[in-house]
Amino acid sequence: MLTIHNTLTRKKEEFKPIHPGEVRMYVCGPTVYDYFHIGNARSFIVSDFIRRYLEYKGYKVTFAMNLTDIDDKIIRKANAGNIEAKEVAETFSAAFFEDIAKLKIKKATIYPKATEHIQDIINLIKKLEENGYAYNIDGNVFYNVKKFTTYGKLSGKNTEELESGSRVEINEAKRNPLDFSLWKKAKEGEPYWESPWGAGRPGWHIECSAMSCKHLGETFDIHAGGNDLIFPHHENEIAQSEAATGKKFVNYWLHFGFLNIENEKMSKSLGNFFTARDVLKRYSAEVIRLFFSQTNYAGPLNFSDDLLSGAQKGLEKITNLAEKLDDELKAGRPSGIEIDFDFAKFYADFEAAMDDDFNTSQASAVIFDFVRAVNKVLAENSEAGKRFFEKAKEYLAKTAEGVLGIVDFSSLHGDDSKSLENDLIELLLNLRIEAKKEKNFALSDKIRNELTALGIVLQDGKDKTTYKKVKAE
Ligand code: AMP
Ligand code: ZN
Repeated sequence: MLTIHNTLTRKKEEFKPIHPGEVRMYVCGPTVYDYFHIGNARSFIVSDFIRRYLEYKGYKVTFAMNLTDIDDKIIRKANAGNIEAKEVAETFSAAFFEDIAKLKIKKATIYPKATEHIQDIINLIKKLEENGYAYNIDGNVFYNVKKFTTYGKLSGKNTEELESGSRVEINEAKRNPLDFSLWKKAKEGEPYWESPWGAGRPGWHIECSAMSCKHLGETFDIHAGGNDLIFPHHENEIAQSEAATGKKFVNYWLHFGFLNIENEKMSKSLGNFFTARDVLKRYSAEVIRLFFSQTNYAGPLNFSDDLLSGAQKGLEKITNLAEKLDDELKAGRPSGIEIDFDFAKFYADFEAAMDDDFNTSQASAVIFDFVRAVNKVLAENSEAGKRFFEKAKEYLAKTAEGVLGIVDFSSLHGDDSKSLENDLIELLLNLRIEAKKEKNFALSDKIRNELTALGIVLQDGKDKTTYKKVKAE
């Protein structure tokens, strides 16, 4: 039984989808004004674990992630560079897709963009106006928070406390400090769209209400995002959607902990961030994913090179076994002897971990236990037959590769450039043999010495020369 900790009820609950066998899930995506950082990547990767596990369980998942492609930050960046906001958004949307592919995040079913849903957004605001939840002041439309009596139910905040804690901005033309923008009147030099309230652009919260409803329905199963979105973003989404439809908006709300640096949230504004693309230059997607899987999604996690190096070391154990299994099967492992091994137990343990509110840290521990157990069998049974190899590979393919994405059977043995490197070394070794045959010892020594200088040490055996790569000091 899958259980999920629901932010709305503050309890772990059994997961029951609205339509049997189907899950509709929405995750707040990036504002495309810059490259995303490795903190954002945590939210994207953790949503990917959840989505892949739901698919592992046999659900058909409709997964939507929005791109906020019009917003203050985008406009500011465009103005600073003297280009159109659209250009900024297009550049960084393309970068977003490149980076999530490199992180081996499965593509969402749909990536709705705010600027492609302006009419849906306008219709929703009109509906809120009709229902008495929105008011227009000189082309700026606000949501009337007082009217939505259950405001605060997600974040657990109460409106009186919120009001006394917030200062009314002198120039803000709105009735109540908690009221928020649904439609912003166009300012000089800003992109705008025509609307019943005049030229302007949508507020941030309304885009998620409009797009989730359009693509997933008025009520859907799971809505997720980082902890920073609980208030006000998700609280406001609930207020908008439920006031418009009169129906419950979302059944399960999930929120992800922050990636921190020295216990402080990684963020653009604090400047304490690394872009995902820079981190990917030093660590593979599998290492980054293992690192994230080893802490549960809800808690905070510190980012450091030491921790990533630790994950890299750990991952080698899994990769070594995956390579061994793959190689032996490709080489035509003989039927050999049958091995009595309890694969079902390891599947059950993995599923029990993931069923417990997507406990990826326990699930990755189960995979390490599995690797240890399989290595032990192989050490004790050199005759272990093909069937065992197949089943062991299948286990890693379903769990480590399929759900966590920490193994990629299609790119084992390093990347392509590594195998090219090995081929080139072999080529040089063969040329050296020919040089020796021709008694051109000057050339054969030159090949040896130059390879040594590159950290590739040759060892001449009786019939064959082998080589070892040593790290340069
Ligand atoms: P943004 O582009 O800032 O709207 O953020 C995109 C997603 O990344 C949202 O779901 C945020 O909650 C999430 N996010 C932002 N900073 C962090 C962080 N340091 N750790 C984890 N998630 C984050
Ligand atoms: Zn959102």
